[in-house]
Amino acid sequence: MTSSDIDAARLTLALNELRLPAIKALWPRFAEQADKEGWRAARLLSALVEHELAERDRRRIERHIGQARLLPGKTLDTFDFTSVPMLSKAHINAITAGDSSWVGKGDNILLFGPPGVGKSHLSSAIGLALIENGYRVLFTRTTDLVQKLQQARRDLALESALAKLDKFDLLILDDIAYVTKDQAETSVLFELISARYERRSMLITANQPFGAWNTIFPDPAMTLAAVDRLVHHATIFEMNVESYRRKAAQMAKGSGRTTKTATASDNNAD
Ligand code: ADP
Ligand code: MG
Repeated sequence: MTSSDIDAARLTLALNELRLPAIKALWPRFAEQADKEGWRAARLLSALVEHELAERDRRRIERHIGQARLLPGKTLDTFDFTSVPMLSKAHINAITAGDSSWVGKGDNILLFGPPGVGKSHLSSAIGLALIENGYRVLFTRTTDLVQKLQQARRDLALESALAKLDKFDLLILDDIAYVTKDQAETSVLFELISARYERRSMLITANQPFGAWNTIFPDPAMTLAAVDRLVHHATIFEMNVESYRRKAAQMAKGSGRTTKTATASDNNAD
């Protein structure tokens, strides 16, 4: 065994210990190139360290995407902005940019519109773009989250459940209107909204305007208080267009394709 073999073996062990997998994988090739091309030591070191950092970023984003429970395949690239003329792609891009100041300040986004216009698609896509820009996001159907929080309240753990959600810069509550009557009575949703107010952001989708939100909270006063907090620092988008699903189904019909499932799903709560 030569002394450079011993160095290599030691280095591999040390890089494992230090958890530097990118450097571990790359150093033999980089070192060979450096020897051949006469790189200065600083160049070799910085090249290796940069790869480790890039790899670490990639892994972190991958982990955050895994935790976010976004809708698969729904991206801004696959969102057809021409079907929602009141939304500008530039505005949405600004909202998802790396320096999205609204997220840091706990501002909210509210997306209104009838079923099938792309509220869920767009909100999941906004979530994905924000994660790629370094933010942490959780996408959830409102009724699923309310159910979890109700269980937490029964276990006397509501406060810690709400605190756990703090790690997400943005909480996407899809379909707030589908909160059921027994869910409304416990008011955990109100406590969530109060807990995040002016601190952590929310993106809420709804197919009913505020006037129809009385079934979501235990009483009108609480509805008013919740709406007040949500809109205080909020951007509101009204997507009042024809259902994208129905439109797509009609186009398919025109081209002779079957449309049964596509139109039927328009009647479903989603
Ligand atoms: P909503 O949440 O408003 O009911 P969805 O986001 O579930 O609507 O959209 C219904 C279906 O139509 C989804 O498959 C979605 O990807 C698609 N869709 C809706 N709007 C658009 C759009 N503007 N561009 C591309 N696909 C869209
Ligand atoms: Mg939806």
